[in-house]
Amino acid sequence: MNVGDRCRLDKEHLWHPFTPMREWCAEEHEPLALVRGEGCWLWDQEGRKYLDGNSSIWTNIHGHGHPVINAAIKEQVDRVAHTSFLGFTHEPAMALGRELAELAGLPRVFFSDDGSTAIECAVRMALQFWQQNGRPEKLGMVGFDAAYHGDTLGAASLGGIPLFKGAANHFGYGVQRVKDLEALRSLGVDVARVAAVIVEPLIQGSAGMRLWPKGMLKELETWCRENEVFLILDEVMTGFGRTGTMFACQQEDVVPDFLCLAKGLTGGYLPMAATLTTERVFEGFLGEGRAFYYGHSYTASQLGCAASLGSLRVFREERVMEGLAAKMEVFAGLVGSLGAMPQVLEVRRCGMIAGIELRDQPPGTGARVCVAARKFGLLTRPVLNTLVLMPPLCVTHAEMGQMVEALRLGIEEVCG
Ligand code: PMP
Repeated sequence: MNVGDRCRLDKEHLWHPFTPMREWCAEEHEPLALVRGEGCWLWDQEGRKYLDGNSSIWTNIHGHGHPVINAAIKEQVDRVAHTSFLGFTHEPAMALGRELAELAGLPRVFFSDDGSTAIECAVRMALQFWQQNGRPEKLGMVGFDAAYHGDTLGAASLGGIPLFKGAANHFGYGVQRVKDLEALRSLGVDVARVAAVIVEPLIQGSAGMRLWPKGMLKELETWCRENEVFLILDEVMTGFGRTGTMFACQQEDVVPDFLCLAKGLTGGYLPMAATLTTERVFEGFLGEGRAFYYGHSYTASQLGCAASLGSLRVFREERVMEGLAAKMEVFAGLVGSLGAMPQVLEVRRCGMIAGIELRDQPPGTGARVCVAARKFGLLTRPVLNTLVLMPPLCVTHAEMGQMVEALRLGIEEVCG
């Protein structure tokens, strides 16, 4: 397909997420079509290559076209691609359930489709648990300011970023929002009515890579235990090695009641999610006639499970976590150097996640910097005026250097 046809077809028929479509469809905008990937690199239709600076919207862990994950998917598709998980089971789901349970220290695994539905599952399990187990007044949810937990109605109603809440502003589970632990502690008598608190551990992603103070998560866990409130951790972004440990909660020795995983679960190859929980929660659903009435056509997709098993195999065989500490140090040094630029207000980093906030720039500057950085071989997407670097964990030192250099040139070009 040539460039002209591509622009015409896309603009005639497609509708992109989180995208002002008037600008997208404007005459002068030429959509970039990606056709191939290998490791940290992506190629467009014209044969130009780019570094995948945000792991294809925070999903890719081991790079594109990894032979182990590719083979796992191919072997599975030759057996069967998808079967119903309603009334049936299958080996890939069993094997993956066991591996996830061992890795996270939570024995029960409920599969779904994406980050948003992993959150919906946790919230609905928490609410239904209390309904069924003698605390029907526990209907409230507490979330944090600037949080993002997805865009289905329930998940969006938990979020704290007005722009992304849309229609969900007028809907929801009686969600209270708090700024920090102090505010949570001063909720007072209302606490008895709270079913669960939900948080992105260590770092709030869509807020602009905002870091929580060290120890916050442990204190939150303690507060939840003392107040009989479930703790839901949204590790959709932070899961699978991103922060330097397999799961971010392990850095503060926290085991939540619900752990929500998605993006990196399949290594970034297929849509799939998992909500992990405790035996206590599971047992709360064992009474006469009880079931968790939730599930989708593609729950526990065999292909998704196979890809996830492939990704976990790569973690083991390539000793990904062992190699990460040294890589994080290099990453810290490189992204940290952007902090010396006069156009940069602050660099925030957690493991292999970095947010580079621009200083005093009009709205839309972050997006313009990312477009400029393409010329220098980098693809990424900002959160407002915070630039994001979140490379696949297989990134080399040289590639990290190239990413940071492309961003530096992009910033200089756009911000002067
Ligand atoms: N939670 C967090 C922390 C996220 O970063 C995201 C996606 N950016 C989601 C939930 C929603 O995930 P999905 O887009 O896969 O529904």
